Amino acid sequence: MDNKLISGKVVSAQIKEQVKQEVDFLNSKGVYPKLSVIIVGENPASQSYVKGKHKDCGECGIISDNIAMPETISQAELLAEIDRLNKDDSVHGILVQLPLPKHIDEYAVINTIAPEKDVDGFTAVNVGNMNIGKDCFTPCTPQGCIDMLDYAGIDMTGKDVVVIGRSNIVGKPVAVLALQRSATVTICHSKTKNIAEKTRMADIVIVAVGRAGFLTGDMLKPGAVVIDVGINRNSEGKLCGDADFDSCIDVVSRITPVPGGVGLMTRANLLKNTIKSAKNCLK
Ligand code: NAP
Repeated sequence: MDNKLISGKVVSAQIKEQVKQEVDFLNSKGVYPKLSVIIVGENPASQSYVKGKHKDCGECGIISDNIAMPETISQAELLAEIDRLNKDDSVHGILVQLPLPKHIDEYAVINTIAPEKDVDGFTAVNVGNMNIGKDCFTPCTPQGCIDMLDYAGIDMTGKDVVVIGRSNIVGKPVAVLALQRSATVTICHSKTKNIAEKTRMADIVIVAVGRAGFLTGDMLKPGAVVIDVGINRNSEGKLCGDADFDSCIDVVSRITPVPGGVGLMTRANLLKNTIKSAKNCLK
């Protein structure tokens, strides 16, 4: 079984090692990579994600600061803080942890971040540049999916890829990245008819629906590769993906586990994007 797993632990550790070396190099040139993270309110899941991001930065020598704002903050105050960070030359990456409270317009907030500091790759400028294949910050989770396929030596050229999910942060961008690798891409969503018919034709299935056990082994072609983006809790409260691991493992050639898969890649790519931004200071 183990030889079928594409381990996020292994791939993300490699990325982190490379990031550490780049931090040393940047430090030697007088550049000290820094990520500023804004968190609004007290959502426990957001707090735990943010904690993980600071821990990763610390391990790699990236400076990170945490800007905690109350749930009641006004949109204008939040935008003013982002503007301050945009103008601060010591800050290379700005991340606003989502979701935001309902009274705040997420689109306005994200698009106030200077695109050259948008290490999440969520601003319209970065999304647009990614779509036309120009240099940009690619969003961390979709890039993580591609990194895992690369690490496993899976060439996407001409492959039939089915993406399940069409969110702006996962489904759509990962479909674009797969297309750029010359895959033939089908995107499925909640209105798609007979998804299993489509996944059974796929060489690679990337599943990002947010439903535990959604993708089952009988929906796959023997030898298919599964990239499982989902992070869910099953009925016993255990962390699990969108693929039903037990029924998929016998059918697939490779699969990413949850936990220990794409989630770790998301974190690693945030570090990579922060370094990319800091390196731009040397230009
Ligand atoms: P999302 O915004 O809720 O999008 C879910 C997508 O799945 C939507 O496009 C939806 O279709 C589709 N969908 C829902 N039910 C479906 C069904 N029965 N059949 C077919 N399609 C269905 O979620 P997301 O932000 O993309 O996240 C998806 C999952 O990935 C979640 O478990 C999330 O926690 C996880 N995630 C993991 C990472 C990571 O680092 N590993 C990062 C981000 C997200 P419609 O558009 O038609 O509604």
